[in-house]
Amino acid sequence: MTNKKRNRKNKKKDASSSSSSSSSATAAISTTATARANRRIMDGERKPLKIYVDKEFPDSTYVVRGERFLGRGQTSTAFDVFKEGTESGCVASLCYYAVLMAGAHTADLHLSLPWALEGALRGHCGCISLLKNDIYKIFYQVTTLDPPIALWAYWAKTHDSLLNKRETRKTIKEVRVLLAGRCYICKTIDSEEDVTLRKCDDCKMYHYCSVECQLTHWKEGEHRNECKHLQILNKYHKPYAKRIREATIHGDKQIPALERLRNRLGLTRKKEEYQHLLVPMKDLPRNAINGSPNRPDDYCIARNDGTVHIGSTPAVI
Ligand SMILES: [Zn+2]
Ligand SMILES: [Zn+2]
Repeated sequence: MTNKKRNRKNKKKDASSSSSSSSSATAAISTTATARANRRIMDGERKPLKIYVDKEFPDSTYVVRGERFLGRGQTSTAFDVFKEGTESGCVASLCYYAVLMAGAHTADLHLSLPWALEGALRGHCGCISLLKNDIYKIFYQVTTLDPPIALWAYWAKTHDSLLNKRETRKTIKEVRVLLAGRCYICKTIDSEEDVTLRKCDDCKMYHYCSVECQLTHWKEGEHRNECKHLQILNKYHKPYAKRIREATIHGDKQIPALERLRNRLGLTRKKEEYQHLLVPMKDLPRNAINGSPNRPDDYCIARNDGTVHIGSTPAVI
């Protein structure tokens, strides 16, 4: 694989700011520094895709070729190129692959999750952003679903720690204060006289007024899935996160801590086990719990042992 480092200035592509440019006949990618930095990339429907470039990860010929196809609106060809790049170990390609999997309307986040996670485990901040800003945050918009706040906080903290920043520190603190003040399930307020809230011993994020409320969240609210997934990350990712990122950027092919982590999270499971879930979100099988309506977004977190519903590949990548 030929890696070709290029200078890039900005990291973030603001999707909303570029919607007006979608009317242009072709969103050809200019090779000028400014255009490259802004990543004016459209998918086949001429919708802007959010690409957050982590400049520490080297580009490859796959990225150059893939971007060229994207610029011509040839999304499926670009997709194939990024897939090839991903399989050959190019993490910059992997980020594009995960973004394209999610789709311009982030309609298929369950398909994007395993790839966003693969990139995030390697410390690619584009993939971490995709996880915390799209895949986990979407739950905030759907009132019937529980937002995986603990997972969102994990990746927000990881992002800051990898980049030695403090961008999300304040927000996480505010969220913690908010959650500590009342029972997550029945909203009973903590009071000095009669109610003392207890918190989840593992993630220490959610608080409850009683064992009943805690169990309701654990089972029906599927906090178990989130909390178990988080436990795997805390044990097998957190202590090694910086080393894995450095080794990946360095181009190391054998990273034992990463392979162990991928196995623990179920990313390396056989494809036959989840083949039936590799369909658009709208076609996902019903995942009814206690007669509740279809909750396809459930596939965006984890199974109740903390492993992912959909894996990436058993191969070493
Ligand atoms: Zn309660
Ligand atoms: Zn928990």
